[in-house]
Amino acid sequence: MAYDVIDTVLLKIASRCNLDCSYCYVYHMGDDGWRNQPKRMSHTVQAATASQLSRLYASQGHRLHVVLHGGEPLLIGPTRMRTLCSMLRSALPEPCELHVQTNGLLLDEEIIDIFVEFEVGVSISIDGPRKVHDRYRVDIRGRGSYDRVRGAIARLTARKDARPLFSGVLAVVDPDSNPADVYTDLKATGTPGIDFLVRDGNHSRLPSGKASADSTEFGRWLSQALDMYLSDPTPPKVRIFDDMLRLIMGGTSSKEGVGTTDYGILVIETDGTINKNDTLKVAKNAADRFDRESWSILSDNLTDVVQSSEYSEYYNQQQPTSPKCRNCPELHVCGGGMVAHRWSDNRGFDNPSVFCADQLMLISRMREWLSRHQAA
Ligand code: SF4
Repeated sequence: MAYDVIDTVLLKIASRCNLDCSYCYVYHMGDDGWRNQPKRMSHTVQAATASQLSRLYASQGHRLHVVLHGGEPLLIGPTRMRTLCSMLRSALPEPCELHVQTNGLLLDEEIIDIFVEFEVGVSISIDGPRKVHDRYRVDIRGRGSYDRVRGAIARLTARKDARPLFSGVLAVVDPDSNPADVYTDLKATGTPGIDFLVRDGNHSRLPSGKASADSTEFGRWLSQALDMYLSDPTPPKVRIFDDMLRLIMGGTSSKEGVGTTDYGILVIETDGTINKNDTLKVAKNAADRFDRESWSILSDNLTDVVQSSEYSEYYNQQQPTSPKCRNCPELHVCGGGMVAHRWSDNRGFDNPSVFCADQLMLISRMREWLSRHQAA
């Protein structure tokens, strides 16, 4: 794929959150960019974004996937949400996809009506059973949010017109939790899919729960969850497992983080600034910002940004440079992991993923399972 194609645009429509999850990369990984952002995206920025995305879609002829993101995106409230969704849907008809990533706390009937009207897919963050979820996903008063999130999922799935919008749950792995309990509880929500994410970190600031770059806490946890998934006769989709198994068998992945397919991802901040993928914040302060230029949706042309050499450098950064990755027999499956997870203060991104040992353990478990079942 040429670098001048954008697959996904994340719109940071609200820069603050109504939860204070201790592992959050936006507020607790050393980047303070959110402090300078307005709390909510203004109508002017929304309108400019919709108009520019429409032009970008027409020029690249490749469908765009737009994710309403934050902070917590539902903090913009139903009135602004309706206006935004209406503008975006007019600018980006099908097959373009609109999507919202939410913690669910504000997902009431009025908001669900809007998502039904404008066909906005909904992904909800929940980490597992109450005792797992409420350990980290707390509000600013320290109260757990599990019951409120389950309530939101129940509201969404109770409605025949809204149920098809539920695209899945996003769960951050707690390596101290029981994978079977987490898998079972998440499946019990009725979700069509589970997106397991590892906790963020890098070689200079290890992910919480990981003792060293060589340890395998997350690999063990994911391997046990994989066993649950593979022995389940009616499993939901689990992106990381589905993608890796497909890659092992010669297919392709569907999203960044595994495999060697590159993805064009941009972020529009609440004030209209155009940034790189915000997961790069995990590396160091301002790692998600373009160095030489400060582009804005209000004054610059998105198509020009995508054609710039600086965008090209950012896009090419997805391919790992570390000799260990370049010579790794599992590179086509692992892909070197998320770019942010390769960071170290002394070598920049020129490292294998800090989850290298975990990835190798998980891939090996998949290969064992495949060889047993292909031989049978
Ligand atoms: S991070 Fe590790 S497993 Fe992944 S490609 Fe690099 S060396 Fe291989």
